[in-house]
Amino acid sequence: MPKPSIKPVGIDLGTTFSVIAHLDAAGRPVTIMNAEGDAITPSVLFFDGDLVIVGKEAVKAAIHEPQHSVAFMKREMGSSVFSRLVNGKKVPPEVLQSYVLKKLKADAELKLGQIKPAVITVPAFFDDPRRKGTLDAGKIAGLDVLNVINEPTAAAIAFGVQEGFLNEKGESKRTERVLVYDLGGGTFDVTLMEIDGKSYRALATDGDVYLGGTDWDHRIVDFAAEAFMKKHGGKDPRKDPSALTRWLHEAEDVKRALSAREATNYTCDFNDKKLRVPISRAQFEELTADLLERTRFTTSSLISEAGFGWDKITRLLLVGGSTRMPMVQQMLKEVTGRTPDRSLSADEAVAHGAAIYAGLLMATGQGQAPTVTVRNVNSHTLGVLGIEKQTGRPCNQIVIQKNTPLPVTKVSRFQTAKTGQRSVVANIIEGGDSSGGNATQIGKCVIQDLPANLPAGTPVDVAFSYSDDGRLTVKAKLPNQGKMAVLVVERASGLSEQQVKKWGDVVAKPSGPLELNED
Ligand code: AMP
Repeated sequence: MPKPSIKPVGIDLGTTFSVIAHLDAAGRPVTIMNAEGDAITPSVLFFDGDLVIVGKEAVKAAIHEPQHSVAFMKREMGSSVFSRLVNGKKVPPEVLQSYVLKKLKADAELKLGQIKPAVITVPAFFDDPRRKGTLDAGKIAGLDVLNVINEPTAAAIAFGVQEGFLNEKGESKRTERVLVYDLGGGTFDVTLMEIDGKSYRALATDGDVYLGGTDWDHRIVDFAAEAFMKKHGGKDPRKDPSALTRWLHEAEDVKRALSAREATNYTCDFNDKKLRVPISRAQFEELTADLLERTRFTTSSLISEAGFGWDKITRLLLVGGSTRMPMVQQMLKEVTGRTPDRSLSADEAVAHGAAIYAGLLMATGQGQAPTVTVRNVNSHTLGVLGIEKQTGRPCNQIVIQKNTPLPVTKVSRFQTAKTGQRSVVANIIEGGDSSGGNATQIGKCVIQDLPANLPAGTPVDVAFSYSDDGRLTVKAKLPNQGKMAVLVVERASGLSEQQVKKWGDVVAKPSGPLELNED
């Protein structure tokens, strides 16, 4: 049996694939192969009665019984429950994610012995509920999550150490301004970072949690389905869940082939009818031009918002499997005028960076001086939803602007409306427009037990703080009386500590969550 290990791991918990890495005896990051011998594990679950199967086997099983399979949990992090019932039960997305972590952990333990400390990566664009969900998924899987780190930061660390623009302690020799363009299976992220010696600063970040390689796959399926129906008529194959799963697999293969070749064929069948649809790279690029354009727009806006020209960017890093599509590389070459850096495996860079960061955190915890400091920005505005006095319409009173360096604390002043009012309620939101539309509800902050007989208009100061890792805490004070107010943040989503523990017990058992009636 291998000895228990206190060596930490870095985990890239991806939308479509996940990767786990550790540092070898020489301190170099190494991907840990899963039990099937693969470096990447599909983030897909299959519920076979009580048994939860994760990874490649789950993908295979899903083709025949899509109703028992679950994928794309990452897109739903931060919601209270997964968008569809899982074997007839409501299950929070972080519990589903924890099964992926549990498999990565268990497979890695076969090689390294017991694993506990870990750093898990999240898209820079993840808001507070999604970050908390990821931390909770780690806890449920039995990991001690040292921290979450943004995927582009992890990628920059891994690239930097490998390319030699950072030393093995992660320090740069000169100021580097790195643009990280990350297009994965289900999310798109673009981040501008400055690395100066030991200090990593995210200058700006933007992205889209609903844009990734899978959207490119769907376009191929649409193209083939239309050709199929034109030839054979009848029912739309996309309406049949089992056929859709199969067709999407074929589309992904075709897409990968088109990264290497100018043309290929899409072979599909449905209801005993077959068709071979020729498709060229040029056609594929036309079918998906608007998707690529969305990433170009976000990237260009980010650079202009940061107040830089492209000449100030020293490196352009491509991360995520979808950046293998030639159209991505061409577009970035056109926009930036430089050739992207993609010497490191696009699939493994993020997990490797997380492993290096985990190693640095552990070294600091054991009394060594911190080698690198990571400074993030918040990826969404933080606001309080109020009512405009004149119009009676909802309005988003912004407390912390987007892309503010973290950590940050901003105080917002509220006042009591009535004499003798004993509590004040503030609805906290992230993102959204000026009237709070499209915002994420963080929760309600309730300031309770105010002293009796306060006059109307008594000020109450509420301090909103983002920590380094993008988590939010809130404190309240009565400024004129120097008194702290009792404050309760009722989160709109997410699990309580007790629920995390309860789910942890369920996930630790060989059986799935199917037997438990969670409240
Ligand atoms: P990631 O989440 O970073 O592992 O990225 C996974 C996505 O990359 C999936 O949508 C894959 O289909 C896509 N991908 C991987 N390899 C290629 C390739 N050679 N060409 C196009 N897309 C790819």
